[in-house]
Amino acid sequence: MSDVSVEKVKCLIIGSGPAGYTAAIYAARANLSPLLFTGIEPGGQLTITNEVENFPGYPNGVIGPEMMEDLRKQAERFGTDVRFEVIAKVDFSGPVHKAWTESGQEIQADTVIISTGASAKWLGIESEQRLMNKGVSACAVCDGFFFRGQEVAIVGGGDTAAEEATYLAKMCTKVHLLVRRDELRASKIMQERVLKTVNLEVHWNTEAQEILGSDGVEGVKVLNNKTGETSVLPVTGFFVAIGHKPNTEIFEGWLDMDENKYLKTVPGRSFTNIEGVFASGDAQDHIYRQAVTAAGSGCMAALDAERYLAEKGII
Ligand code: NDP
Repeated sequence: MSDVSVEKVKCLIIGSGPAGYTAAIYAARANLSPLLFTGIEPGGQLTITNEVENFPGYPNGVIGPEMMEDLRKQAERFGTDVRFEVIAKVDFSGPVHKAWTESGQEIQADTVIISTGASAKWLGIESEQRLMNKGVSACAVCDGFFFRGQEVAIVGGGDTAAEEATYLAKMCTKVHLLVRRDELRASKIMQERVLKTVNLEVHWNTEAQEILGSDGVEGVKVLNNKTGETSVLPVTGFFVAIGHKPNTEIFEGWLDMDENKYLKTVPGRSFTNIEGVFASGDAQDHIYRQAVTAAGSGCMAALDAERYLAEKGII
């Protein structure tokens, strides 16, 4: 790689969800001239959401991709250099951090803000993709409200599924929890909560085979993997809660992660184990995972980066 392609910046932001763009707004307004790489999915997970009703400041709701466009424009307004490219590799061994784009461009940065997010895991059946945002969702907190007074199904057996199933039960007439084994992986307390919710029916040893409907969900065909019997549940909403995967592969070996590969940060701060590298959003948060919490942590990361640069005498 020739030196000609090396670019030096004070603040490199990786990722373009609410965390990345909020970090960019703050960093740009602090005169850090941030350079932001959007990654494969510009705008992040919100671009696969339909309407966002729980982001403060939008009394009439906002379409997910529109909100992300607004955030991008706001970041650009103050001088963020937004590039629709992917960072493929990093090297955090020296005082100046290095990153390379997929096309081989080297970036050197005094600070790096990571906001690469997480991706929901999906079942991988054809009807799931086809009916995405038309009754199929991976976020009950985001989309459950659209199914109030209706009957829905949710797949999964972990804490997320248990939490989202009980959340949905508060607004839906009936919730079917589809569990592929004969037990839940969720914590005892969550299991108890699930089992004592009257309008929540657990279907053990049950797999979703096909989501029915063409322009909306009209039912789900399920298979009992013990008896081989199939049946159709009359639901109009279908939720998948089988876990998330943080987009942190390129940081392996450099940054401390938990057992599920979420980046570890100092509690209450955005510091990672490497000086000058900060983490925000879902890449480091498996608990809240909301646009507004991601945005808040992006702001924290930018403020931490700014203070770090000031302490080092760089700005
Ligand atoms: P988990 O990995 O804990 O659970 C995933 C669940 O989905 C498992 O029950 C798994 O089944 C099931 N599953 C996976 N793939 C499929 C598939 N293809 N078809 C059907 N079912 C499938 O993920 P969670 O998101 O639930 O939790 C992630 C982490 O976050 C955990 O550590 C959890 O404790 C934590 N968390 C904590 C909360 C809290 O404390 N309030 C709230 C939410 C999450 P199987 O069991 O058979 O493998």
